Amino acid sequence: MENIKNKVIVITGASSGIGAVAAQKLAALGAKVVLAARREDQLKAIVTEIGDNAIYVPTDVSKRTDLDNLIRQAINKFGHVDVLWNNAGIMPLSFFEEGLADEWDRMIDINIKGVLYGINAVLPHMLQRGQGHILATSSVAGIKTSAGMGVYSGTKFAVKAIMEALREEVTQTIKVTTIFPGATQSELGHDITSPKIRALYGDLKNMPKMDEDAIADAVIYAISQPGNVSVNELVIRPLGQT
Ligand code: NDP
Repeated sequence: MENIKNKVIVITGASSGIGAVAAQKLAALGAKVVLAARREDQLKAIVTEIGDNAIYVPTDVSKRTDLDNLIRQAINKFGHVDVLWNNAGIMPLSFFEEGLADEWDRMIDINIKGVLYGINAVLPHMLQRGQGHILATSSVAGIKTSAGMGVYSGTKFAVKAIMEALREEVTQTIKVTTIFPGATQSELGHDITSPKIRALYGDLKNMPKMDEDAIADAVIYAISQPGNVSVNELVIRPLGQT
């Protein structure tokens, strides 16, 4: 695809789910992709399948220096970064009364600080080039909330706010896109420990969900726009999701 071919696209949370599928699709359209996450084996397998136009960089997005290293490695390999997609996230849902405060901390560190650290790492490079595109994955839970979703939802509302303020600050030169997926096939929620959430939802794997392609295609739409078109927010739900 014309506007995707040869673009250097860095994706966090690319070892499974939405990020992994999108990395494969973007590479198939001619992009050079840099995959980041913690599970090196998974990243290596995906990159091997894609071939020469992909590298991986083991990255924990809750560590600021890891994001700095990720952007540095991408520039070392491909010369510059056109697109950074802050997609990594976790969703260990729970009710407040259960007091799973360590899980709240992890969500804040990964879902919010991970996005901030990504922006911090890439922004000087993009401002210097006078162009670039930063995406982040929020959620339908970043638009509306409900019982048991408080902290996860709070992190995703934060992503929306951070990205909108960023857009206003850099709108002269840099595109900013926030993606709001509804229920999508992936490993998300595999780390839910709350007995109340497990009793309420059962196995999240059995809920009706969209394929990862639905979100990957939305990202491809945003990235493939002409130079002066900035897609700011995309909400994608499976039919039937409120
Ligand atoms: P997955 O669990 O399949 O993917 C999450 C990705 O994030 C994995 O690659 C994981 O890799 C990575 N990740 C988690 N923690 C870290 C970390 N500390 N550092 C680096 N990478 C990390 O789920 P999805 O594909 O669904 O999730 C992608 C995004 O989509 C998330 O932000 C999620 O909140 C959002 N989303 C998903 C929805 C859904 O229904 N699936 C709905 C709405 C939003 P690793 O463990 O190897 O580090």
